[in-house]
Amino acid sequence: SPKMGAPMPAKQEVPGVKHIVAVASGKGGVGKSTTSANIALALSAMGLKVGLLDADIYGPSIPKLMGASGQPEVVENRIMKPLEAHGIKLMSIGFLVEETTAMIWRGPMVVSALNQMLREVAWGDLDVLIVDLPPGTGDVQLTMAQKVPLTGALIVSTPQDLALLDARRGIAMFEKVAIPVLGVVENMSHFICPDCGGQHDIFGHGGAKAEAEKMKVPFLGEIPLTMEIRQQSDTGTPITVSNPQSAVSKAYGLIAAGL
Ligand code: ADP
Repeated sequence: SPKMGAPMPAKQEVPGVKHIVAVASGKGGVGKSTTSANIALALSAMGLKVGLLDADIYGPSIPKLMGASGQPEVVENRIMKPLEAHGIKLMSIGFLVEETTAMIWRGPMVVSALNQMLREVAWGDLDVLIVDLPPGTGDVQLTMAQKVPLTGALIVSTPQDLALLDARRGIAMFEKVAIPVLGVVENMSHFICPDCGGQHDIFGHGGAKAEAEKMKVPFLGEIPLTMEIRQQSDTGTPITVSNPQSAVSKAYGLIAAGL
């Protein structure tokens, strides 16, 4: 887009990183970051070397979710050492500047910050780098899709119509720039009541699966709305780490295996 000032260099590999997978959602608050973190951890539990890049500049939540804080050490010539938590390498704008600083950045600054967090980091050898994108389909997401050599994108949506509509836009954006959509995940798919044991479809149920089928992209699985997911995210030890035998962690594992 002509609005974008500082361009990212043309698509070039990130040395040592085999696959880069973007996690996207049409709108905020659908659980994109929670899904990114748990899938990254599930991939790590499968024995892969994993990194997690928080590209959600305006609302970085990976530091809190992964229980990581502090500033990255600069090793040589501007190159930063990623932080590490639960066996995963991490980079986030939350480690670099005050959140309020990043909040006032315009597109070009955001793109150059993303470029720095992607390419000026000593990731080492990684099998997969999960990129938690900002919500929506704006210039930043489009630039990432065009300039970063993505293996593919994972779309997170709730079953709600509005989220689905936005997710559809996300799928269309990736298809337009020829990035394969690896699959769709339905988050907050249903609620199992701890008191009555019944299943309640708070935001509806099955919508993302139907949509994925319609758009001919794989449906990778559904994650329920549970207290444990939210509580563990808040403590900085996601459920995949704290309770790997739970049904939810197994569901994250299946999604990771389906990528
Ligand atoms: P996004 O990245 O899409 O903005 P987040 O991952 O930050 O969304 O999630 C928003 C809030 O919802 C967080 O408080 C998170 O802990 C909670 N949350 C996400 N997914 C679930 C879930 N499946 N069950 C319960 N809470 C969830």
